[in-house]
Amino acid sequence: MNNLDKNNFHFDTLAVHAGIEPDPTTGAIMTPIYQTSTYVQQAPGVHKGYEYARTQNPTRDALQKAIAALEKGKYGLCFSSGMAAIDAVIKLLKPGQEVIAANDLYGGTYRIFTKIFAPWGIQFHFVDLTDPSAIDSFLNSQTRLVWIETPTNPLLKIIDIEAIVTRVTAYSPEIVTVVDNTFASPYLQNPLELGATITLHSATKYLGGHSDVVLGAIVTNTETIYEQLKFIQNSCGAVPGPMDCFLVLRGLKTLHLRMQRHCENAYKIAHFLEQHPKVAKVYYPGLISHPNHIIAAKQMNHYGGMVSFYTHGNTIEESLTILKNTKLFSLAESLGGVESLIGHPATMTHASIPEEERKKAGLENSLIRLSVGIENADDLIQDLNQALDKI
Ligand SMILES: *Cc1c(COP(=O)(O)O)cnc(C)c1O
Repeated sequence: MNNLDKNNFHFDTLAVHAGIEPDPTTGAIMTPIYQTSTYVQQAPGVHKGYEYARTQNPTRDALQKAIAALEKGKYGLCFSSGMAAIDAVIKLLKPGQEVIAANDLYGGTYRIFTKIFAPWGIQFHFVDLTDPSAIDSFLNSQTRLVWIETPTNPLLKIIDIEAIVTRVTAYSPEIVTVVDNTFASPYLQNPLELGATITLHSATKYLGGHSDVVLGAIVTNTETIYEQLKFIQNSCGAVPGPMDCFLVLRGLKTLHLRMQRHCENAYKIAHFLEQHPKVAKVYYPGLISHPNHIIAAKQMNHYGGMVSFYTHGNTIEESLTILKNTKLFSLAESLGGVESLIGHPATMTHASIPEEERKKAGLENSLIRLSVGIENADDLIQDLNQALDKI
């Protein structure tokens, strides 16, 4: 598709076509996996735009364009993992500068902030940003970056991106707002359209969608930020391999179909759990009982595929009984694949966050997190039902 006008096509069409051109040498409709480390030059410095594969790769180029189009942004950059993308963003900062981050973050993000970059002299403030005004007392002349995850992980709190951006830019338009959009995917929300400077993904999750690749992505409309991040991408070298780019390109083509089913299934499961006599509390932004439901309804196209809950007993033993007894839900870290997963944040994804910090953020030791897949919803409900019967 030549000259694809991002403004004229719906998301579904972009998911299939954005960034993709038939291969110029053969006409191959699928982007070839350019498994090469270097490119032959006609004369020194005379080449076809590709010199060395850390710097440029055509398979990666196609993926960067595709993800940028889905995020309604101008510039895309891909990395070897979501963490590598996060690492690149924090390297925009200098020692002495400060970050204000949401207090309910992906465990690995919390770890790289506190264990890698805090010792380098960057200061992090972890704040409950579900109340946007909470940010005010942390903004100061050293603030360079605001870090948002929404829905948060694993409590699925919703942060009002637009409200945060308004406050931050009123204080200083120089401050960069980053949204880790992994949990929503661009199908559910586009942070750049809500004013964020950068939207970031662990493409390992919904973008790839098939639990077969680890990859990260960044999209921005700000040219200076893009140039700096591209420089970091090339200098630090955490680039994805062409095969991995191909897998994510393939995943993107069904993102809209998968997300639709993830959302439908999660919505049904959240309602089932909420009515189950053994379940004490369900966290799902689509439930009227969810404290941020109204913002979710305003900000997102649907409510996502993640559901968390705990039982009345609220003990680790009860949770372990459920985790051991599901048959369709597999016990594993990660999320966003076609198959349903069940996990225990306190001992798995969030074990790197001290118990005291977890408690402060409201994360119970017994909390169970579901990544609802695209199977049949009734089968999934039956599976949870029989596992709940075991306690
Ligand atoms: C998984 C995840 C990451 C890290 O991504 P990797 O691809 O595993 O490096 C970052 N943020 C969120 C919200 C995630 O779920």
